[in-house]
This record gives sequence, structure tokens and C-alpha cells, in this order.
Amino acid sequence: MNKSMVGIILMVLFIHHTGNAQQKISTQALSPQQESIVPIAAFTANGDQINLKIALNDGLNAGLSINEIKEILVQMYAYTGFPRSLNAINSLETVVNERLQKGIIDSLGKTSSYQPFNEGKFAFGKNVQTILTGTTAIGAPQKYVPVIDTFLKEHLFADIFSRDILDFQQREIATISALASLSGAENQLRSHLKVGKNIGMSEAQLRGIATIISTKVGWKEGNVVMLFLDEMFGVTSPKNLEPPTHANALDDGLIFPKGEKINNKNFTGTVWLQQLVLSDSLNANQVGSVTFEPGARTNWHYHPDGQILLVISGVGYYQEKGRPKKILNKGDVVKCPPNLPHWHGASPNHEFIQVAITNIQKGTVVWLDPVSDEEYHQ
Ligand code: MN
Repeated sequence: MNKSMVGIILMVLFIHHTGNAQQKISTQALSPQQESIVPIAAFTANGDQINLKIALNDGLNAGLSINEIKEILVQMYAYTGFPRSLNAINSLETVVNERLQKGIIDSLGKTSSYQPFNEGKFAFGKNVQTILTGTTAIGAPQKYVPVIDTFLKEHLFADIFSRDILDFQQREIATISALASLSGAENQLRSHLKVGKNIGMSEAQLRGIATIISTKVGWKEGNVVMLFLDEMFGVTSPKNLEPPTHANALDDGLIFPKGEKINNKNFTGTVWLQQLVLSDSLNANQVGSVTFEPGARTNWHYHPDGQILLVISGVGYYQEKGRPKKILNKGDVVKCPPNLPHWHGASPNHEFIQVAITNIQKGTVVWLDPVSDEEYHQ
């Protein structure tokens, strides 16, 4: 294997995604092709063919070649089993044919070049495994059943990983996404997040995978990835000290976790966001749960397609330009008209939690001035 493949510097694209139209979620460090691998691997792993077909379409639209996707699905057999892999390959063939009938001709992409195993397959695979894991140590199962170690090295890390259609980062993105979508594979998930770091993936890229898992597969699955990343990167920020965080949300009787603290100038005070649904090619709605600490609020802003707010906890405020402020209580529903400036947030003495549903077909949120203390209190 060409070592440059490991150290390959992927162009880092900074793509601004819009969150639930309250704010922009953190800048993503994954390229569109890397992002599109996440749901392909996740839905291959959990067997959801309907969402897999959407993910395959999105992947082709994002510029993955047919051969790159085939290779992802081949690798998936090692991590999710032949039945899941073969079903996914069936779905890929269907999707490519459906696109052909619509006149969309997708790029086949390159094929694998010949890789001689000069030092033997076992040595080749051992070298790849060492690059990935950063160690030559092997796990207890491999010691107890040595033939599985042979299969891992000679087959997975030699036969499959020597195929240079995908680079190691693409392969790890697929593996992490698959493991996050399987139950009972937490130990392997934790190990593969470390592999991602070993082969040069940044914290932002790895957290980007978690965000996509949260919004496409489920926030519980995504938050397990976030928890392991917090552990791996030694996060000791206040969000870890302040319950509920990540998967622990249900212990506190809340419906959704608080998510991540929002750090931008579009809000006054402390605000948390848990993304629940990101828009895709078939559904233009973004959904997020937003927690405002007492006194916290959005800036003035408007939504080109309007917005629906569902109040799930606390006491908050909502005001449209030129109208009096309204008090919101748990169970209230607000329909904000398109293009009408407004703001929302917590009351001075109570936390406020809203689920915001925002259609972004005609565009994302447009931010205006902060809500002054005078406006807030009047
Ligand atoms: Mn709004």
C-alpha cells in the first residue's frame, strides 16, 4: 500500500449548514463526498433500504462514483455481514438504473489497481492494521481464536483494504457510521474513532460524522458517538458537568437532550441546540430542539418559508415586529409567517425549550439585530 494514501491531505471544505434556521450549526470539516458516506454505511448496517436508496442518490449527487459506492458496500460485508451488504448492493443497482432511466449518467469511477503482496498477505495486512490502530498488539478474541486474526489481516486488511478505490479515511468514515448504527458494537465503535484520529481525521470531522448520524439515523445513536469523542478528546467543558448531556437526557425526564451549546452572535445568553432532522433532497424541513436558559433569546430574524415552534417546556416569549410580545407556555404552538421579522426565547426567570420546525426550501434564516434589554423587558 502506498503510504501516501494514509497521509493523503483531503481538501477540507468549509460548508455552512443551516441548523433549524435558528442558527448555523458548527462549520463542517467533512467534504460533501465524505458526508454522503455516513448515511450510506449507516443504512447498510441497519438494513433500512428506503433510507439507503435516498442516501445512495444523495451520494451520487454529491460526486461519489459508482465504483466508490460499490467499494463501500463491499467493505460493509466485513463489518455488518453478507446479508446487509448484498441487500445494499441490490439497492445500489436499482438506484443506478432508476437514474439512468431519468437520463442521469453517473460516473463509474476508477477501478482497483493491482497490488502485489510482496511480503505475503499476512505481513501486508499486519502493516495496514498497525497503521490504522497505531499498535501491533492484538485483542483477546484474536488470541483466543487465532484464525480470526489471520482472517482479519489477510482478508480484511489485505484483500479489501489494498483495493485503492477508497482511501483509509473514506473507509473509516464508513466503518464508524456502520458501527454507530448497530447495537452492541460500542467497543468496536470506540476503537474505530481512535483509528479515525490515527489516520489524520480532525475532531471536527469526527464530530461531523456524529452530527450526521444524529440527524439521519437517530439522536441516540449520534450521541453515543459524541460521548466517545468527548472521552477521546478529553472534553471537560461545562457541558459535561451540566446535566442533561447527550444520551443521559432521559434520566432527567426531558424529551430530547440539550445538545451542544451555541456559540455565535445570533443569540443573547446561553442557548443549547440538539439537531433532530436535517433537510435533504426529499424533505426540506429542519427540526431542532432549542433550550434557552432564563433571559436568553434569539436576535431578530425571519424565515423565508416561515417556521413552526412547539413549546415543550418552560415559559418563553415570542414577538413579531410591530406586535406585542406573547408569553409562551408548555404545549403552545406558534406559526411564524414567512419573511416576518420576529424573535423568541426564554422569560427572565424560567428556562424555555422549543422544538423548531423550519422549511428551508426558499432559503435559510436571515439574522437581524439583537433584541435589546429594553425590547426584551417591554
Ligand atoms: Mn424563528
